[in-house]
Amino acid sequence: MPCTSIPMTDRVKATQEAALDRLRKALGAGTASVVIGPTGGIAFKGWPGERGTLFDLCAYRKLLASNSPELRRALAKAEALSGRKVNQATVAAGVHSHDGGATWGKG
Ligand SMILES: [Zn+2]
Repeated sequence: MPCTSIPMTDRVKATQEAALDRLRKALGAGTASVVIGPTGGIAFKGWPGERGTLFDLCAYRKLLASNSPELRRALAKAEALSGRKVNQATVAAGVHSHDGGATWGKG
């Protein structure tokens, strides 16, 4: 995955942590949202500020690992709105979006 294949310098780490924090707060405030793709992939829409090398899937895994209530609420909302569920197989396969859920792929 891109998030683990890049060299993890202190600067990269600090940028990623700040970006993740901004995303978490924006999800909590409702200014950012989760988008579920046609095959159950996940992306974030409305992520504010500089995100550096922190891609949607990496952020999703990190928020999931920290059991973020902001993520859980945003996920439930996205599932209700789209009528779709996150597909863990799709997520594990690395399907992701670079444009807030408009297009999807593995690249
Ligand atoms: Zn990509």
